[in-house]
Amino acid sequence: MTDAKIVNAMTIDIEDYFHAQALSSRISPEQWDSLPCRVEANTERALQMFSDAKVEATFFVLGWVAQRYPDLIRRIVDQGHELASHGWSHTRVDRQDPETFRADIRKSKATLEQIGGVEIRGYRAATFSIGARTPWAFDVLAEEGYGYSSSVYPVRHDYYGMPEAPRFTFNPGGRQDFTEHPMTTVRLAGQTLPCSGGGYFRLLPYWVSRWALRRVNRLDGQACIFYFHPWEIDAGQPRVEGLPLKSRIRHYTNLSSMEARIRRLLEDFSWDRMDRLVFDGAG
Ligand SMILES: [Zn+2]
Repeated sequence: MTDAKIVNAMTIDIEDYFHAQALSSRISPEQWDSLPCRVEANTERALQMFSDAKVEATFFVLGWVAQRYPDLIRRIVDQGHELASHGWSHTRVDRQDPETFRADIRKSKATLEQIGGVEIRGYRAATFSIGARTPWAFDVLAEEGYGYSSSVYPVRHDYYGMPEAPRFTFNPGGRQDFTEHPMTTVRLAGQTLPCSGGGYFRLLPYWVSRWALRRVNRLDGQACIFYFHPWEIDAGQPRVEGLPLKSRIRHYTNLSSMEARIRRLLEDFSWDRMDRLVFDGAG
């Protein structure tokens, strides 16, 4: 099977650098309003990258960002991309109770729909934080009118992970009106390893990611889901002081080469919006 036959899902989580998990030990949500924002300019760069590669992608947008940059949201829609929800507050799902979670995803869906003028069907949890402790999250999403989620990472990791989850699309709790599309993993030597993007994509050489994604396309015969953040292509972002070493490495390594890597990735595989894979049966 050639790569061209499988269309993969390109996604971007629209949040600013100070929303990132690796910086959360030094920046509290109360500080967000007073920090210099970089998300609009960085998202514009991502839009240009997609436009150059003729790729339409899915933008999981934080409600907090949409409220501040409504024109950016409209440009995302106008350029043919899918608008989807990354929640409102960037709070991990496993740190919310079901009713707090419901309010968060309802507010973000309503705001995005009002600004973007399109129906919001997709959701991605902050830090892939739907897992074994939050099985109710899928029911709440379905009840609030979402049709799919891409929020589970079926690996072991210190921030996230649901190692017992299926590696590919499943109906949570047997629901027929809702699907979960886990982040992409590759099987190697009896292990399940992450290969969906983010820190791994920046830290390891490009060919490792290309090899892993190709292996999933060819061996599993499945579409991959790739994700990145606008702040990952922004080497000029303010440096946050006093971070633990691991957080510093995760957040700042290879920011300056990320744009070129993603441009290469956009050329090396076929990509489309998540909703086309989810609802048109390709995924
Ligand atoms: Zn996020």
